[in-house]
Amino acid sequence: MTTEPAAPVHDAPAEGKPSLALYLHTPFCTSKCGYCDFNSYEGLEHLVPEYTPALVREMELWAPAARRFRVDTIFFGGGTPSLTSLDDMAAVVRGLEANFDIRPDVEWSLEANPTELSREHLEGLRALGVNRLSMGVQSMHEDELKMLERQHSPERVIQAVADARAAGFDNMNLDLIFGLIDQPLERWQETLEQVIALGPEHLSCYALTVEPGTALFYQVSKGLLNAPDPDVAADQYEWTRDRLAAAGYQQYEISNWSKPGHQCRHNLVYWRAEAYLGMGAGAHSFFAGQRLANIDAPNRYVDGVNASWKERQATGRAELRQIAGGETPDEATLRADAMILGLRLMEGVSLAEFAMRFGVTPEAIFGPVIERYTRLGLLETVDGRLRLTARGLLLSNEVFTDLLPDPDED
Ligand code: SF4
Repeated sequence: MTTEPAAPVHDAPAEGKPSLALYLHTPFCTSKCGYCDFNSYEGLEHLVPEYTPALVREMELWAPAARRFRVDTIFFGGGTPSLTSLDDMAAVVRGLEANFDIRPDVEWSLEANPTELSREHLEGLRALGVNRLSMGVQSMHEDELKMLERQHSPERVIQAVADARAAGFDNMNLDLIFGLIDQPLERWQETLEQVIALGPEHLSCYALTVEPGTALFYQVSKGLLNAPDPDVAADQYEWTRDRLAAAGYQQYEISNWSKPGHQCRHNLVYWRAEAYLGMGAGAHSFFAGQRLANIDAPNRYVDGVNASWKERQATGRAELRQIAGGETPDEATLRADAMILGLRLMEGVSLAEFAMRFGVTPEAIFGPVIERYTRLGLLETVDGRLRLTARGLLLSNEVFTDLLPDPDED
């Protein structure tokens, strides 16, 4: 992909501009958790001084193409973005403001690890404009946190939430993992009860998955740890749905709940298959009809950005060398993505909106799959929207697999 010469980004009236979500990736962590397969690395802190300038340069490279959009959400994910110093965060904010047209009411989320969060750092983040904090809690039991190789304690979570509130964060997500190895229902119930008592506006609850290549995968495959029990995880999930509904949380996605008005606007962009631009090592984008993935390795990402940036300074144009690969999905893939991602949402997929977007009805493409799973009680159509039933939420992967395009068909 080649960039055009830079042009002022505030050169058109904001009204009528399509929305864009920005994702910025920090690949650094103080230690690697045993279950984690994200693009994150321990022991690479020496790269931090080069990384932030590269991130800002990548913003400059994208600015010409992004100027016809208005940024609605920014998500600083990782890795551990809360490790980024306030000086570096200030440089990132200056880069964002200089290169993108940002809505005044932008949702800016930042993922944080309770271990590193000081009250002073939280106040600094809030002052810079971060208005939504997403904290990786995972469990409120010391032994479970150890099994996951997390560095924090349950007490640290309680303190970090209190400090974030005192620093002015009134929109907070807490991430939890259920279905842990040998975790009885009651242990999960204790974690969720303690977290509900902390009063977050948003909760993400994911079942533990043992991802190939992780330390946990090695331990399970060698028989050193039991594999997670899917039946226990299903019981925990069903209980979670009931308990969070009783506590005033609305489930709006398979794994996400919020108090009214606090859905994550950024993640809704992914589930509605809308445009997003990812920057940083290993970040992914769905932009201008293309799916792009940046280079994973932070040092090679930095080198790629710097080479492109220098070429652009010299010639006015540049190949985007930080991108490892890209593809232009065909229509069948786009339709399947929109259907699968949309079904993750409790609102489901509007049959009329799908037909308008793709010029063909969902029934014409997915008719047999919709019929089969409706008959089996996993899908239902309510008020013109196709959605998963309560049973379908437990077996969503079966439905999604059957919605994928047949690789043998053109
Ligand atoms: S803190 Fe998060 S990103 Fe870092 S290793 Fe642990 S799970 Fe992965």
